[in-house]
Amino acid sequence: MADEKKKVSALDGAVMTPEGLSFKGFILSPIVESCTGCERVANFEEQAYCPAYAEPAKKWTRGICNFATHVKATVDKEGKTKVNPLKASKRAARGR
Ligand code: SF4
Repeated sequence: MADEKKKVSALDGAVMTPEGLSFKGFILSPIVESCTGCERVANFEEQAYCPAYAEPAKKWTRGICNFATHVKATVDKEGKTKVNPLKASKRAARGR
């Protein structure tokens, strides 16, 4: 019984309405391609939603979703493009 409850807990209480899936007072939009692999993704009636953020597409418009569980490591590796201000200043001083 406890296992059954765990399975539905992510979107527990969600209700499908004519506007979309209603959950905790928000209308949830389906997840976007970038969300694939995120542990927060939960299914409701064969459609995948994010219980953490109502509009996943918007969450990805300005870069990587900060709630994502599947891309943190990649962000760190690719973080080379994001230069630490202190390092940038040292680099500038060295003329690089
Ligand atoms: S937390 Fe972010 S990446 Fe994960 S499902 Fe929600 S919107 Fe998508």
